[in-house]
Formats: sequence, C-alpha cells, structure tokens
Amino acid sequence: MFGWKKSLSTQTGVPPKPAADGAPRSPEVGGVEMASRQGPPKHPNRFAWKPNAGQKKNETEVGGKFRPYSEITGVCPRCREQIDWKRRYGKYKPLIEPAKCQKCTKRAVRQAYHNLCSNCAREHGVCAKCCCKTEQIIGRESSEVEAEQKALEEAIKNSRERDRRTLLRAVRFSDLYFTLHYVA
Ligand SMILES: [Zn+2]
Ligand SMILES: [Zn+2]
Repeated sequence: MFGWKKSLSTQTGVPPKPAADGAPRSPEVGGVEMASRQGPPKHPNRFAWKPNAGQKKNETEVGGKFRPYSEITGVCPRCREQIDWKRRYGKYKPLIEPAKCQKCTKRAVRQAYHNLCSNCAREHGVCAKCCCKTEQIIGRESSEVEAEQKALEEAIKNSRERDRRTLLRAVRFSDLYFTLHYVA
C-alpha cells in the first residue's frame, strides 16, 4: 500500500511533501527500479520454502512427526510470531532442560525463548518472552479466560441498556469479542 503510494508520487514528479506530523521522511529507497515495481512478484514461489529440504528428517526429533512442537503459550502475539518463524525456518532450538527465570531465578522456564516462568509472567501480567505488559496473551489458561468471560457476561447482563451498549462496544474492540459477540 505504502509502496504504491510512494511510487505514484515519484512517477508524477511531485516532490514528496513532509509528513503532516512533522516527522522526517525516510529517504527514497531503491530509486526508480524499485519505485516502478508494482503488483505481485513476477516469479512467486509455488510452494513454501522448507529448511533442510534435501536431508532426511529424523521424525523422532522435536518438530518431527512423532514429537510435534508444543503449542506456543504465555506470550504476546508478536513473540508468538517470532517463535513460530524460528520453527518454520529451522532455527528453533528447543530447551533441553528448564531454563532460569529472570524474575524468580528458579529453573522453571519450560518453553524455549521464554525469559520468565509461567507463574511470574501470569503474576505480573506480562509476556513471558519480551516481558511487555500486554492485554493479549496467547493461550492463557482456559480457567482464567473463562472466569474473565463470565464476569463480563454478568456485567453486561446486570447493566442498564445504555451502559450495556457501551460495554459491548468496548468488547467489540478487544479479542474477547470473538468469543462474546453472540451475547449481543
Ligand atoms: Zn519465575
Ligand atoms: Zn512478547
């Protein structure tokens, strides 16, 4: 999207205006060659790239048919994507033994690339990898999610019509919406 807009302004010869918010514009990258490229790639991959494609895979290794990867939980969507990327591209190094938690220093970290144990992460409400405070944690404990959902449903049920609409509107913008929208 952005690239298309950028190429349009270079083609028509209109000097790029500074951004409205006063932020410095990034210099044009790639020159004409890049700016004139539009649409999908000319030679897209017909199948996804596979790490170690020519080598025989040991199916009993982690990630093999007999030992599939565990679910990535307790992290924010961004960290989940990072870990998933490592898996897809053969860079994932599973933990051999539990790692030290950076908060409680116990050897209680059981997932690769996590910095906090699940207890500490939950206690502080942060992502176990980047330690950022985030609303959306992937794969929280189902009991926790259920309790939260019940409380919200109860609140919606007990509220006045006007508040109810406000609440539902707030929910609609959160990830809870997908499990709650049938209430509306
Ligand atoms: Zn800990
Ligand atoms: Zn994170």
